[in-house]
Amino acid sequence: MTVQAEILAEIKKYDTIIIHRHQRPDPDALGSQVGLAELLRNSFPEKNIYQVGGPVEGLEYLAEMQDISEDTYRGALVIVTDTANAPRISDSRFDLGARLIKIDHHPNDEPYGDLQWVNTNASSCSEMIADFWELFDELIMNEEAARLLYGGIVGDTGRFLYPSTSAHTLEIAAKLLRYDFDAAELNRQIQQVSQKVAHLSGYVYQNVTVDANGAGYVILSKEIMDKFEVSDAETASIVSLPGVVEEVLAWAIFVQQPEGYYRVRLRSKGPVINELAKQHHGGGHPLASGANAKDLDEVNEIYQEIQRLCQEFRTI
Ligand code: AMP
Repeated sequence: MTVQAEILAEIKKYDTIIIHRHQRPDPDALGSQVGLAELLRNSFPEKNIYQVGGPVEGLEYLAEMQDISEDTYRGALVIVTDTANAPRISDSRFDLGARLIKIDHHPNDEPYGDLQWVNTNASSCSEMIADFWELFDELIMNEEAARLLYGGIVGDTGRFLYPSTSAHTLEIAAKLLRYDFDAAELNRQIQQVSQKVAHLSGYVYQNVTVDANGAGYVILSKEIMDKFEVSDAETASIVSLPGVVEEVLAWAIFVQQPEGYYRVRLRSKGPVINELAKQHHGGGHPLASGANAKDLDEVNEIYQEIQRLCQEFRTI
């Protein structure tokens, strides 16, 4: 039996299914989580399907979460999408159910749960949920599930720009587009930024420092965050910006948090950066990772490591 068939068999066994995703959700976290929830609601109307987790700041146009009590977890099946490690699951009640399934496209560094389906070749976890739908006649797509899954794919591929975009990604996206939702409006919602984030974008372009091998960085200190009146969640749309600069090969955006430490957002056009992320309390994909730095010393250390990775990459 394939793992996907095992997952469907589990889904059929349970009356209550609760779906979680990672903290600080992005469109793929919500797209895969609520896309799966909608798909299951539409396919199995007699079951109770819930989507839970912390705030979806800035992504309300995609989906909202549901409030459920701890009692609801008794005897329930819990599915977590798009989340590599258990500490990043939102919220922490995910282990109160009878059985736990992980569905993810990040490297399987922490195989939590009773059953895992991990496909690191998938552009997004939303693409995996769409693959799941395609495998079984019992699963019935509708407009809302298609909108969410399409949004997740658009989000994680940078609108089909990143190397994770495969022919299969485009085929799946085309199949989802056949459903009646407004893809142009959704693309606009994913792309558009507030005026203050537009101003912060100008700051990022002006202040990205790049060395001779293409290692780039920008520090967004608390003072800068306050000056532009932006929150940590609002930095999501500026992370990719240094990548459009020809000279930049790999880069970090260091976002200082109210507590003082830095959230590190790492991206690359070639050098593999997730091992570096793992050494600094983080992880992620080979070309898109996240980490943490306790102070400016660790910020400098991480930047020096990016410089070394870029230098090695140039000399291969
Ligand atoms: P971000 O810069 O937060 O958009 O993260 C980019 C990628 O790195 C995502 O795929 C995340 O799942 C992963 N990631 C970010 N932060 C962490 C972390 N602290 N631990 C593990 N993976 C992370």
